[in-house]
Amino acid sequence: MTRVLAIVNQKGGVGKTTTTVNVAAGLAKADQRVLLVDLDPQGNATMGSGIDKRTLEHTVYQLLLGLSTAEGVRRRSETGGYDILPANRELAGAEVEMVGLEHRETRLKTALAHVADAYDFVLIDCPPALNLLTVNGLVAADAVLIPMQCEYYALEGLSDLINTIKKVRQHLNPRLEIEGLLRTMFDPRNTLAQQVSDQLEQHFGAKVYITIIPRNVRLAEAPSYGAPAVHFDAACKGSQAYLALAREILHRMDTGPEPAVAARALAEGER
Ligand code: ADP
Ligand code: MG
Repeated sequence: MTRVLAIVNQKGGVGKTTTTVNVAAGLAKADQRVLLVDLDPQGNATMGSGIDKRTLEHTVYQLLLGLSTAEGVRRRSETGGYDILPANRELAGAEVEMVGLEHRETRLKTALAHVADAYDFVLIDCPPALNLLTVNGLVAADAVLIPMQCEYYALEGLSDLINTIKKVRQHLNPRLEIEGLLRTMFDPRNTLAQQVSDQLEQHFGAKVYITIIPRNVRLAEAPSYGAPAVHFDAACKGSQAYLALAREILHRMDTGPEPAVAARALAEGER
């Protein structure tokens, strides 16, 4: 069965795109068939997958407006080992143009329906806003992966996001779950980061991934080479963390998040 994950946080710069691209490549390395959907007009996931966003004729924009099919938009990321529905700034127009259309919240879900079966995972990189594009991502998804930096305002933003998820669950997509919260760009020497991290664990328990993504400059350098870091430099700490996260996601699919003890043992064995 296909698992569709939306990578969501309305804050910019928290590591959504880095997470989407590296988890996609990490799952592909584990022989999973992966489709990445770039739902952000910035097109960073597209560029980070080695596809030049400036030369695209068909993107997620055409897909959402019904001007092209998923097959017509789909490209192969050779550097990532996955397929991608790419995006560029044109997609910002879809946000406006969709408002007047029917079924505006379910357009992505409908467009993905007949290609999703060909994949084990569909990962949707959402824009930094709780807008109509993000709602399309949430409606198409089975579950939400929330990357967050452990800083003071992170928790405040989280409650807005969780309210949006609840509303989407009530009105548009009753099966939407929280897959997990991911601590990104983590610096263990930062006391506040430690405190926020502890609060997250207290509040969300087993929903918090055991894997923590450290701050690592190699992760930030990889996009300029058009390749996910897990391929560009598989040995660096950041890549190792994303590979561990991909394994943790696979493990959760088998067992659910509850047997946290077993998963913790597994993750610690990998360190
Ligand atoms: P978002 O998609 O949420 O806006 P990005 O994934 O684009 O966030 O990350 C924001 C910036 O931080 C990018 O320049 C990215 O390369 C960098 N970055 C992301 N994760 C890390 C990390 N773990 N360590 C260092 N830099 C990171
Ligand atoms: Mg992004």
